[in-house]
Amino acid sequence: MIHQLPKLTFERDALKPYLSEETIDYHYGKHHQAYVDKLNVLLPGSQFEEAGLVSLIKNADGPIFNNAAQVWNHTFYFEGFSADGRREPTGELAEAINESFGSFDNFKINFGEKAAGLFGSGWAWLVKNNNGSLSIIQKSNAENPIRDGLKPLLTCDVWEHAYYIDYRNKRPDYIKSFWEIVDWDIIASRY
Ligand code: MN
Repeated sequence: MIHQLPKLTFERDALKPYLSEETIDYHYGKHHQAYVDKLNVLLPGSQFEEAGLVSLIKNADGPIFNNAAQVWNHTFYFEGFSADGRREPTGELAEAINESFGSFDNFKINFGEKAAGLFGSGWAWLVKNNNGSLSIIQKSNAENPIRDGLKPLLTCDVWEHAYYIDYRNKRPDYIKSFWEIVDWDIIASRY
């Protein structure tokens, strides 16, 4: 199986000023593409030649896991954004957020703290647990909650390459902007 870089669901300049076209050019056009390309070099001749990304996330280790998870993680991250979407959850997801975190504002504070406080490279995730409750978890490097049997709903990439062009070392400023481009209709469709 040849893995492909998925098309973006928005124009490269659609998320500015929160994420610049240059950030999308590098983060999507170079980093995301590089994970796809490396995976396609690693898979031929391995036991995972015909495996899809979720199967690789569940079963592979080492470089194959790292690159497969990074392909999936970045697709999931970019697909959560839109230029003019809904900026607050509604319906069942809003109720679940209120139930688990008290309020949407509280959720954003908690998620932002987990994203800002993650040491080194990784991802902050909103996940649905098996009992239907929601949790915010930190994952280092390429790690993905699917491997723990959890359902990812939202992710924030806190690798420096996600924000350094626009925000330099100011990860909290990037996280503040993150809320201006997350489309909660898309996040709700994953719930
Ligand atoms: Mn990234």
